Amino acid sequence: MVRVGEIASDQPLGENDKKFLKIIDENNATHVVDAHELQDLLKKAKHVYDKNFNGDVWFERSIFTNWTCGIADCKYCFLSTKPKLDMEALRSPASILAESFVMKHMGWKVGYITGGLRVEPTDYMIELLKNLHVILGEKPMMNFGPYTKKEVESFAPYISGMGSAVESFDPDLHLFICPSKPLPALIKFLGYVRDQGLKILITIILGIGEKKSDVDEVIKYVNEYNITTVQLCFLKPINKTVFSHATPPNAEYMAWWAAKLRIACPKLTLKVALVKDRIADFSLMLQAGVNCFSRYLVFDDFGGNYAQELVAECKRANRKLIGEFLETPQIDVDVELAKLPLDENLKKQMRPKIELYLKRLQKLERPKKVESEDCC
Ligand code: SF4
Repeated sequence: MVRVGEIASDQPLGENDKKFLKIIDENNATHVVDAHELQDLLKKAKHVYDKNFNGDVWFERSIFTNWTCGIADCKYCFLSTKPKLDMEALRSPASILAESFVMKHMGWKVGYITGGLRVEPTDYMIELLKNLHVILGEKPMMNFGPYTKKEVESFAPYISGMGSAVESFDPDLHLFICPSKPLPALIKFLGYVRDQGLKILITIILGIGEKKSDVDEVIKYVNEYNITTVQLCFLKPINKTVFSHATPPNAEYMAWWAAKLRIACPKLTLKVALVKDRIADFSLMLQAGVNCFSRYLVFDDFGGNYAQELVAECKRANRKLIGEFLETPQIDVDVELAKLPLDENLKKQMRPKIELYLKRLQKLERPKKVESEDCC
């Protein structure tokens, strides 16, 4: 494992940086999972899962509204390497809505809308949320990180829930990783969301210095704040950050977290980030009691080998994958758009974008085998 403290950074490291990078390094070195312990946990987790869920597995795509951030200083984040609050990096509402339309018709879920924090004005977001509700048939979730009480109250009527990443349960380490997002403010935010009766999602990024014992903290917060979904991601080393050469945690460690959470929180929705090189481990995650997945690059990997592997992994775990991953269904875009009570001008802007998304999927689809018929 590469030590995070050894990572070359654009900025010279100060004494404080070195102190925390050493702590992260030491904590990451303890992420060892005993094979017997894992087997035992998997058995228990599967039992709890089977008692509480019906075997469905679904894809939750995160829809980005921007590629910039008003904070832009979290040490692991891609957006920390981009210009702060660059209003050129906003995505058009028509593009967001077109993607959501395609998601809905492919049987995939929009997990939440997300992006950098404190970028779009509240009124702009509310308009987008209302339109997303029309397209999805349900109120969307927002996952942008902590908002103030007033902001949560403003968004509450238009959403089903809100979420944030919780980068560390050690307040000092959290402040080092996210200098503008202190842990106490984040916990307060969870309280504001709970008080509005909304669903709560938290994202745990494994590999940025958590301890195995932090799973107990997560369980405590799930119970205290009625958290409905925990998303387990793992560190994706980003260039020009202090984590640029860090080694992401292995699949067994991630399964250990998933199984611990499943056993302690039987009703919790458990979601895992599923990137290309982790698809072969997906049946292990499902055995650990995971419900759904995010991060799958569906507009690159639809219909191809990764999609085949995804289907096979679900079968291997005896679970049912919901939605289309190999073939595009027939969608009459005009008919479906006409059903939606949206502004006509907005629909006009969405129409060509929907076509582009669908064409991209159709291009990736494997040609159907023509059945040979016996003619004589
Ligand atoms: S607030 Fe979110 S988007 Fe902005 S830098 Fe931090 S993690 Fe990245």
